[in-house]
Amino acid sequence: MKLTTLDHPLAKHYLTVLRDRDTEPEEFRNAARRLCYSLVMEATRDLPMEEFTIGTPLEATTGFRSSTAVASAVRRAGLGLLDAVIDLIPHVKVGFAGVQRNEETAQPIEYYFKPPDLAEATVLILEPMLATGGSLSWAIGKAKDSGAKRVICLCVVAAPEGVERVGQEHDDVDIFVASLDRDLSDNFYIQPGLGDMGDRLFGTT
Ligand code: URA
Repeated sequence: MKLTTLDHPLAKHYLTVLRDRDTEPEEFRNAARRLCYSLVMEATRDLPMEEFTIGTPLEATTGFRSSTAVASAVRRAGLGLLDAVIDLIPHVKVGFAGVQRNEETAQPIEYYFKPPDLAEATVLILEPMLATGGSLSWAIGKAKDSGAKRVICLCVVAAPEGVERVGQEHDDVDIFVASLDRDLSDNFYIQPGLGDMGDRLFGTT
C-alpha cells in the first residue's frame, strides 16, 4: 500500500477552511470540491493514456485520451468529493457504496451498493474520512470482488490507525490524502480532524 500526502499550499488552505468549526455548509462544500481537484490531479498521474492523431488548425499532431476510470463514492461524505471527480475525469462512470458505521463498535454496516461495470477498471474510491479504516476496507473489498484491476483511494484526512488497517487488509492499493492526522478519539473521530464530514457538508447534526 502506498500513502501519498498532498503537499500543496492551496490544498492546505482548503483543508484549513474544512477544519474550521465556524465554516458554514456552503463554504464547506466549496472547499471540499476545490481540495478534491488537487487530490484527483495527483491520484491520476499515471492513469493509462491512449495516443491518437488529431489535426490542429495548422497540422497533424499527437493527441491523448484517458482510458475510462470509475469513481465509487462512499455515501454520505464521499458525495462531497464527487463534483470535482466528475468535472475532471472524462467519461467517468460513477458507482455508490452505502455504508454506515455502528457508532459504538465502528464496524461498517452495508446498506447500498450500486457499481457500474468494474471489470478491469481503475476505480477511485471517494472516502474523505479514513478513520478506523473499516468502511474504506469494505469498499475496497467490494470493488475488488466486482473485478476492479486497480484501486486508488481519495481521502481528505486520515488517522494512522485507519491507514494501518487498510494496508494490512489491502496492500495493493494507493491512498492519496490531504493530511495524515494524529489519532482517533475514543468515539472514533479523527483528531484534530474536521468533525463529521457528512454533517458538515449537508448541515445536519
Ligand atoms: N467520519 C467523519 O465524518 N469524521 C471522522 O472524524 C471520522 C469518521
